[in-house]
Amino acid sequence: MSKSDVISKLNELEKFVITCHVSADGDAIGSANGLGLLLEKLGKEVLIIYPEEIPEKYKFLPKPENIEIFEESQNKTKKTQALITLDSSDRDRVEFVAGQVDYDVLINIDHHPTNTMFGQLNLVEPDKAATCQVIFDLLESSKDKLDIDLDKDIATSLYAGILTDTGCFKFENADQKAFEAATRLISYGVETHVVAREIYESMSVKTFYFIRDLLNTLKISEDNKISWLSCSKDLLDKYEAGSDELEGVINFPKSLKPVEFAVLFKETEEGYTKVGMRSNRYDVGKIASEYQGGGHKRAAGCLLKLSLGEARDEIIDRLKRELKGGN
Ligand code: 5GP
Ligand code: MN
Repeated sequence: MSKSDVISKLNELEKFVITCHVSADGDAIGSANGLGLLLEKLGKEVLIIYPEEIPEKYKFLPKPENIEIFEESQNKTKKTQALITLDSSDRDRVEFVAGQVDYDVLINIDHHPTNTMFGQLNLVEPDKAATCQVIFDLLESSKDKLDIDLDKDIATSLYAGILTDTGCFKFENADQKAFEAATRLISYGVETHVVAREIYESMSVKTFYFIRDLLNTLKISEDNKISWLSCSKDLLDKYEAGSDELEGVINFPKSLKPVEFAVLFKETEEGYTKVGMRSNRYDVGKIASEYQGGGHKRAAGCLLKLSLGEARDEIIDRLKRELKGGN
């Protein structure tokens, strides 16, 4: 699938709905806002539908005029020419928005290697650190075909996704191309210190106490190679916390030197557990796929129809087998 097919659609069509995966993170929101602003600047009719309320720390990001949260727009079928899904590796992760949009074409823009190519047009580039980088490179390589000038707002949104998906340029995906894209974006006036402060240094006192309690659940395997946190529904309820407050917490168990696998278990609705996994050397995307999840090699997740304790037993056992070289 060539970039020029996507560019043609962006040029040709007039009405767009944009959405992204559930538990939207910096890359999902940055790419949706960035692309939304861009299409708006091209004079298109744009609506972003977020699957849920935007996390507090991303509310400062520049955004286009028309944004709805799924709860508000539920049961009102939206008619559009193109539905663009961002940063979502499979249809399930966007279904509750996508399911209520009546579109002619679905354009799937993403960077997950486990992407199932569920769109009619699929621009999926796993070598890119972030979906925001996929969009930026699309613009850069199509300058002659798309009559648009980047500006500070668009650049700030796209920069935020590269910053967050590379863990502040710390992860393996923070390669030369990611730095180059970031540098080019900064040249449009991105105030990098403001973006960093808003996202990483704006924690509420309540969230701080929530994380303190959550860190108390940290367990480390006998050989120090697996560490995990367990977030019960009770703990979430106590602090009225959700995926917003949990974003990045997995980096605590990951930061232990001998650890090969870091895991975050989150109890969701009755009987389900959400699993987030990280590794510096192993392919957790492959492991998550075995459980109908997905993601990247070094960061992935899945949803298990198991209790917190059962999910822990299942996944820790699976990771121990991986360490032994089997599966
Ligand atoms: P996180 O642990 O931060 O929630 O997710 C890490 C990575 O795994 C992200 O790229 C995210 O999109 C992906 N991921 C997390 N959970 C799931 C899931 O249930 N299904 C799929 N396909 N990907 C997931
Ligand atoms: Mn991403």
